[in-house]
Amino acid sequence: MVNGFYPQNLDEALDLLSKHDVVPYAGGTDLMVQDKPNQTYLFVGKLPELRNISEDDEYVRIGAAVTFTEALASPLVPQFMKEAVSRIAAPAIRNAGTFGGNLGNGSAKADSVLVEYATGAKICVASVRGERVIPVEQFYKGRKELDLAPDELILEVLLPKLGIDDYYYHKVGGRQALAISRVSFGGLLSVEDGVITRFTCAFGAVSGTVLRYPDLEAQLVGRTVEEARGASEKVIASYAERMQLTRGRVSAEYRKDVCLNLLGDFLASKGI
Ligand SMILES: Cc1cc2nc3c(=O)[nH]c(=O)nc-3n(C[C@H](O)[C@H](O)[C@H](O)COP(=O)(O)OP(=O)(O)OC[C@H]3O[C@@H](n4cnc5c(N)ncnc54)[C@H](O)[C@@H]3O)c2cc1C
Repeated sequence: MVNGFYPQNLDEALDLLSKHDVVPYAGGTDLMVQDKPNQTYLFVGKLPELRNISEDDEYVRIGAAVTFTEALASPLVPQFMKEAVSRIAAPAIRNAGTFGGNLGNGSAKADSVLVEYATGAKICVASVRGERVIPVEQFYKGRKELDLAPDELILEVLLPKLGIDDYYYHKVGGRQALAISRVSFGGLLSVEDGVITRFTCAFGAVSGTVLRYPDLEAQLVGRTVEEARGASEKVIASYAERMQLTRGRVSAEYRKDVCLNLLGDFLASKGI
């Protein structure tokens, strides 16, 4: 038996959240494996305001209650995100699991969150007090620690539209399918007139949060591809020096080797 509220719209949900000690849930794929019989839940999975995928000039906006299966079917969702969510679990989980739940779980293994880090996405949250838009790397304050007040709901993900076609994505799991990431890697590299204009690398499942190092990324921006090729060993070495990884089911050393190999492969795939 699960106790819960079933609000019909966002205003009602936010009002309930401001007055009751409730836990929001959407697909329940993370929450329902926990055994908390006395918990009261707020079902947000069918709130119309959280169910849209839309776009404006700058962003594809993915509602928090959009499922992975729905995102895979949408022409608006970029291929980078589709590739990552297509690797989540199996169809039954993808049919129920949502973008808001993937964020709300607060895990650095969350596959859609890796793409949000790599692309510099923002997260829109709302409460009866109003809305806030937060860069994803600030939304994650630490392992299972989010910049989300108890009365706030995740509303949508703002995924930048520009410059994210030239991506690299790789997920390493214990098997080909139905595998939680042991290491995941997403990167972007844009070149205009032979000069690198954007270089990002996000490493998932290797620490308390997804990791990005903007100052190390800056080493390649503004260089020609030729210059970058000459600098690639130094760039990889700078990541090796900086990365402090945690042990999970596999050792920190293994994870670090995999991260650096993926970084090298990413650069090589772009001719660097
Ligand atoms: C067998 C299995 C395999 C899995 N494999 C993967 C995998 O490969 N990759 C991966 O990334 N994940 C995986 N997961 C985890 C899970 O499916 C995802 O994290 C999914 O996105 C959770 O979405 P949900 O809607 O089911 O979340 P829920 O279980 O409903 O909620 C998860 C958390 O988010 C919070 N929450 C949900 N919606 C909101 C909202 N709108 N605002 C605020 N908080 C909210 C909840 O309170 C809860 O803390 C797997 C899970 C299972 C059971």
